[in-house]
Amino acid sequence: MSDITENIKILKNQLPPSVRLVAVSKTRPERDILEAYNAGQRIFGENRVQEILRKKDQLPGDIEWHLIGHLQTNKVKAIVPFVSMIHSVDSFRLLSSIDSESSKSGKVTDCLLQVHIADEETKSGFLPEELLEELDSHDLQELNNVRICGLMGMATFTDDSDKVRNEFRSLAGFFNKLRTEYFHDRPYFTEISMGMSGDYEIAVEEGSTMIRVGSLIFGERIKK
Ligand SMILES: *Cc1c(COP(=O)(O)O)cnc(C)c1O
Repeated sequence: MSDITENIKILKNQLPPSVRLVAVSKTRPERDILEAYNAGQRIFGENRVQEILRKKDQLPGDIEWHLIGHLQTNKVKAIVPFVSMIHSVDSFRLLSSIDSESSKSGKVTDCLLQVHIADEETKSGFLPEELLEELDSHDLQELNNVRICGLMGMATFTDDSDKVRNEFRSLAGFFNKLRTEYFHDRPYFTEISMGMSGDYEIAVEEGSTMIRVGSLIFGERIKK
């Protein structure tokens, strides 16, 4: 058995059935993705629009492409027809652009709101207080072509597992607050996308419903 097939098997065996695996295939060649596909994997995560557009034509049509990286408004139109979920919605401007392009494509796009839970300035996402203000000041009922399915977050890159756990716990707590206070009439508000190769076990313990794992499946990425 190849490493990729083996790695997926090991990972899936560890996950509770309630947690979905997003195989992060950014920078990986099509043959690696196909191998994961043949091992039963269907959800793949990419962080660049161009990379999804290039790869999708070479690969089976039933792959679900998830965008996990920052999305620029000017790329929304290109990706909307092909994406199953956008994990990285970090502004209302972006959300409303996804809504209007989805409407033009005759589809409803599943989205997650990215929340900034880490220390690092470089990671994007709404600050929790900022997101609450945005939710108070916008009418979500007007957005008929996006479904806000939950939240996404990335923990600080550190060996301090208590810190990572606290960050994931705060995201799960925030998710529960939003579900009760803003999304109680949206039965699809169910997802917490958190956990990567280095911290997915903690994320699962803290209530993740979707982990995004790359290097543990495909090997270390070649740094560019
Ligand atoms: C690259 C990336 C991952 C996967 O990282 P690994 O450490 O390779 O598992 C997960 N989420 C996001 C947003 C990423 O950019």
